[in-house]
Amino acid sequence: MKIGIVREIKNNEYRVAMHHAGVEELIRSGHEVVVEKDAGVNAGFTNTDYEGAGAQIADTAESVWGEADLLLKVKEPLESEYGYLREDQILFTYLHLAASRSLTQALLAAKTPALAYEMVKGSDGSLPLLAPMSIIAGRLSAQVAAHQLMSPFGGTGVLMGGAPGTARAKVLVVGGGVVGEQAAIVAAGMGASVTVLDINSARLADLDRTHGTRISTGFSNAQAIDTLAREADVVVGSVLLPGRAAPKLIKRETIEAMRPGSIVIDVAIDQGGCTEVSRPTTHDDPTFRVGNATVYCVANMPGAVARTASVALAGASLPYVRALANGGIEGIAGHPGLLSGFSTFRGELLHEEVAEAHGLPY
Ligand code: NAD
Repeated sequence: MKIGIVREIKNNEYRVAMHHAGVEELIRSGHEVVVEKDAGVNAGFTNTDYEGAGAQIADTAESVWGEADLLLKVKEPLESEYGYLREDQILFTYLHLAASRSLTQALLAAKTPALAYEMVKGSDGSLPLLAPMSIIAGRLSAQVAAHQLMSPFGGTGVLMGGAPGTARAKVLVVGGGVVGEQAAIVAAGMGASVTVLDINSARLADLDRTHGTRISTGFSNAQAIDTLAREADVVVGSVLLPGRAAPKLIKRETIEAMRPGSIVIDVAIDQGGCTEVSRPTTHDDPTFRVGNATVYCVANMPGAVARTASVALAGASLPYVRALANGGIEGIAGHPGLLSGFSTFRGELLHEEVAEAHGLPY
């Protein structure tokens, strides 16, 4: 199979779908790989690295989209890429279709066989291609919060870990999965006082067992979110109902009542966001104000740490890319992990949650 890797065009998206080490593995498995010129350069992988691994370098995105049987990307195709979508090319990338009706319709109209990284499931029910980016986004959210809390950036002027004789920053994390746990670990590591809310009691017990008294846990409900957010310096939104649009758990009224300079980081923005005020922002212009609070809704947070994120994504996705390239469309049915990521085929939606989000037939 001919596998194509294009340069990402989303705002400040520096990741690349596969590094040269992965390309070498795919070529060793009997496949050809074509890489768009400079696709990996912002993540530290040069054209020479890819050539050394045996890849062909193409001058334009158009030629990679045109030649490949399997197209690998990081972020979902943007509108300017919709014209490349076609029926006889498999697309494997993050799709987050519940958050984009226009992309869903473009994939259906082009009859593209598309698989979403974030929906691929491991044998234990985990999301192995979402997890590495969630770990990164979670850790980053605490870094972003620490930065935004500083007075020159309009923050509350509270140091995450405080100083002797002063209060530490209060961090509320709504959703204690992969993102939430990592946000909590880094925030607590900086010395903040951290509470994680989740609806899943087994998850809360896990967090408690692992982190003891360094992280407080609580059951998530409207009242708890409202009360704790009003007192917080930082709120991280990290809920997920796989495949579905994120529930709007953090109300506008709550955010408007937050302390001057407090910050809300809605990591769940790629699934539409879990606050009533969320709208996607970019690394160029990452925040907006609501009341006295700053709201951060960057949908491709790991793009900011492109080297780490590209190596992590390539490592996690390689076994799945290899299985897809070896087996083609026909092989998907026999591979439960890939099958759960299979999102559109022959103009039909394969995920009920996406159909529900857009009122489309399933
Ligand atoms: P996860 O499945 O590991 O965790 C989600 C958690 O939310 C689960 O523990 C679940 O029990 C909890 N939850 C569900 N409903 C809840 C509710 N009502 N109240 C509180 N908790 C609730 O998912 P994850 O990997 O941590 O991902 C979280 C979100 O972050 C996803 O939308 C993911 O796509 C997104 N994400 C965004 C970026 C970015 O750059 N913005 C990067 C990576 C991941």
